[in-house]
Amino acid sequence: MVEVETVDRILGMDGDGLLVLSVYVNVDPDDRRAFPSAVDGVLHETRLLTKDPDLDREARLSLRGDVERIVEAVTEEHVRPQAVAFFSCSGRGLFEVVELPRPVRYSLVVDATPWVRPLVAVLDEYHRCRVVVVDRAHARFWDLYQDEMVERGKPRDRALRKPDYAYGMREVATRNKAELLAKRHYRAVAQRLAEDLRRRQFDIVAISGHEHEIPELLDHLPREVRDRVAGTFPVHPREEDLGAIRDRAQEVVDRYERAEEERLVAEALEKHAAGGLAAVGLDDCLWAGATAAVDLLLVHDEVMWPGVVCADDGWMATAGDRCPICGNPLRRTPDVIDELVQAVIDEGGSVEHVMTETRLRDHLSAATLRFPLPPLPAG
Ligand SMILES: [Zn+2]
Repeated sequence: MVEVETVDRILGMDGDGLLVLSVYVNVDPDDRRAFPSAVDGVLHETRLLTKDPDLDREARLSLRGDVERIVEAVTEEHVRPQAVAFFSCSGRGLFEVVELPRPVRYSLVVDATPWVRPLVAVLDEYHRCRVVVVDRAHARFWDLYQDEMVERGKPRDRALRKPDYAYGMREVATRNKAELLAKRHYRAVAQRLAEDLRRRQFDIVAISGHEHEIPELLDHLPREVRDRVAGTFPVHPREEDLGAIRDRAQEVVDRYERAEEERLVAEALEKHAAGGLAAVGLDDCLWAGATAAVDLLLVHDEVMWPGVVCADDGWMATAGDRCPICGNPLRRTPDVIDELVQAVIDEGGSVEHVMTETRLRDHLSAATLRFPLPPLPAG
């Protein structure tokens, strides 16, 4: 699981004159033992760099320490990540390992700061889901994120658990009191959800319990929380099988994400059809990315597309030899969509990989824009 605090710590890493080594390596699920040699292969370039006479001695020693530290970390057992990212600057005593829930492209970057874009792109695609199991007197909270469910405690409740068995008016009074306490309990649950949402502890909510009691809680939710309800599912409030709760909640999250992807694609395509601020198709999206015009980029699945990039001004295209802006020769890349994704993140835009079957398949990419695209440079 990638914790936000870890990402913040990595974002704050500074070589302070030394280089930071960032390495991303995928784990082959069919051959986990191949991981150390995959890492070793990626580190080859860095080993060459540790002998580079253009670097000063301290920088070379730090890089050598980075390689040793990563090789050492690789031998530690990783349970089931899809990829692992290492960030190291041994000369400054900095080292972080992050296990990623999704594969990334093999990558190695040596720079003054850590290379976090693949990490940020992976995180962008996960919603933090608060899972609530509730009945009229109890509530349990978990957060489901990157396939892991973590307990978030229970709100304190003052509900009546043992109504005294009485007759006549006394029973009516007890029932009214129970009703009152149930309302107070739902209010407490709703309040705690609103507070945690304000602290950005979650993005969406899945609510479960007895089917007939779920609407009672929904009625008590303030609008800002109700807008985040991704779905509900029936479960016995005392269900002890957390795996079962997790699986049902995951289904709610998956359904929500599919629906959200469909909605985003439909909105972008409609906006474009109406002549609004949107781009459809790879060529226009690449131009939008080069001019920092992208607000939200939608990319179909994990399709790769070869293309060219200008190192000087960020021009990107699917083909060409010379940059139409500056005239310099273009660098070839096996996947220009990856360059586009990173350009969008660099300029503060968002990226959504659309895994659902939508009309985006025909266009590969679409984007909503911050401003109209300038005319394409001639050539
Ligand atoms: Zn150029």
